[in-house]
Amino acid sequence: MSSPVVIIGLDGATFDLILPWIENGKLPFLRETMKNGVYGELKSTIPMLSPTAWSSFMTGVNPGKHGILGFFTRKRNSYAIEVINAKHRKIEEFWILLNKIGKKVGIVNVPLTYPPKRVNGFIISGMMTPPGAKDYVYPNSLKEKIRVIIGEDTIDPLFTYLEGEEVFTQKLFDSTEKLAKICFSLIKEYKPELFAVVFNGTDYIQHKFWHFLDRKHPRYDIKKAAKFQKIILSYYQFLDKIIAKIYSLAGKNATLIIVSDHGAGPLLKYFHVNPWLLHNGFLALKKNIRTKLRECLYKVGLAPEKIYNCLLRVRVGNLGFKGHRTDVSLRRTLERLFLSVSDVNWKKTKAFSIGSGLIYINLKGRDPHGIVNPGEEYEKLRDTLIYMLKKYRDPETKQPVIKEVYRKEEVYSGPFLEEFPDLILVPNSGYMTFEEYEFGSYTVLTYAEAVSATHKSNGIILMRGPQIKKGLKLNEAEIVDVAPTVLYLFGIPIPSYMDGRPLYEAMASQKIAKQPKEYPIKYTGPNYTVNMENPYTPEEEEQIKLRLKRLGYIS
Ligand SMILES: [Zn+2]
Repeated sequence: MSSPVVIIGLDGATFDLILPWIENGKLPFLRETMKNGVYGELKSTIPMLSPTAWSSFMTGVNPGKHGILGFFTRKRNSYAIEVINAKHRKIEEFWILLNKIGKKVGIVNVPLTYPPKRVNGFIISGMMTPPGAKDYVYPNSLKEKIRVIIGEDTIDPLFTYLEGEEVFTQKLFDSTEKLAKICFSLIKEYKPELFAVVFNGTDYIQHKFWHFLDRKHPRYDIKKAAKFQKIILSYYQFLDKIIAKIYSLAGKNATLIIVSDHGAGPLLKYFHVNPWLLHNGFLALKKNIRTKLRECLYKVGLAPEKIYNCLLRVRVGNLGFKGHRTDVSLRRTLERLFLSVSDVNWKKTKAFSIGSGLIYINLKGRDPHGIVNPGEEYEKLRDTLIYMLKKYRDPETKQPVIKEVYRKEEVYSGPFLEEFPDLILVPNSGYMTFEEYEFGSYTVLTYAEAVSATHKSNGIILMRGPQIKKGLKLNEAEIVDVAPTVLYLFGIPIPSYMDGRPLYEAMASQKIAKQPKEYPIKYTGPNYTVNMENPYTPEEEEQIKLRLKRLGYIS
């Protein structure tokens, strides 16, 4: 039997924040792990969003092969969107490959694993599980066990950034403690050979409280900072103890891998792509009376983000979690007043945005009402957009907002390339591209009022165990390398479709470098023709969208 592998995911963890704490001895277990193992930055995906990055983590491929670019996706041959789920991901997770050679796995709270697949072992699905879903675990009998361990059968903390600091913090620590208890108990009972858990709380708490760490942040408040500036550190200290316990439960021979899906940094403003395209003439609205009326309201500020911020000010953030129905009907009423996709004149629209910093050219032959010819016209339009976007400056600071605009073929490869957005924006520090659908705001830049941190490319990786070198700094690790590294630790071959590589430089001995000559199993490889049935009911899809809105992810 090979030694077990334990993976701890800390969503959004970055050395920019935690390295000083580790060095000062405030996170003793992480410090010991760095000293007795290897560590380094882990390059995230583009975009640096949790569903995208965690999907690359679990498949070892770039988004052009797994197909996940954010919290929702464009429906084929349509301008409409749908909320994503695990079935949209077209490549098998590495734990399914391990299953095929008889390894027992335990997967807890990894984002985008709903609906859970059947495995030898267990799965508790993570972020993007519909609130209140009954089928969020495999096997089903696990629900009863969870009830025994934590006194209820859900691990969903049900909080939002709209909540006050105390309530938010309380819910976060409580839900993390419950999650930890479930991990301790299931590791003891099942003894999985691969165990993976993701703690999302690191990302949530950074989004919520970053400004209390940063005196230069416009939302820094000296009184509140006195109370809350240590809260992120306390949360990491809480997790430091939890990780130490999980590692000790896995036994002396276990390899521990701690990873984050992306880093984090201060957020000041959102960049809204659709208003920018509208103001610059790339996107056109219809001329009928209803659209005109909505356009007038939109110009005076009746847009989803404003409403969200108003709700924030009067602190009715909890609205809806107990009575979804009221909330949905309120939203439907508002939506009749908001400018929407139905107001877009597609016959005069050359480019539009769906997703975080993702721009589609309205292309003939691909899009239902495409007007831009492939070839020269398409390339010229992309060049113009890249030039203008990079030139765009924040009217307040006169600083450029967009750091880089990539053509899709520069960052992705694989079967999804054709249907993927044509340009991908990466903003400068302090800015975040709003996950756009329709028209979140009339102004191109808006202040981020509910969250004060954004995502950055530099995630983290730390590894330790008998198979791992000591005290080495890794310089070139990427998130797609995790899956092949795990397969390598189990001594099984790496499927050729994987874009990542095993982190050979981290391995202590050459013994485990010996790979079996024969493939123990036949890899079926990526399956792009899977029937994409939607596991969400329309109500569940509504609830998830609403949830994401409240968390500030989508407009
Ligand atoms: Zn994340």
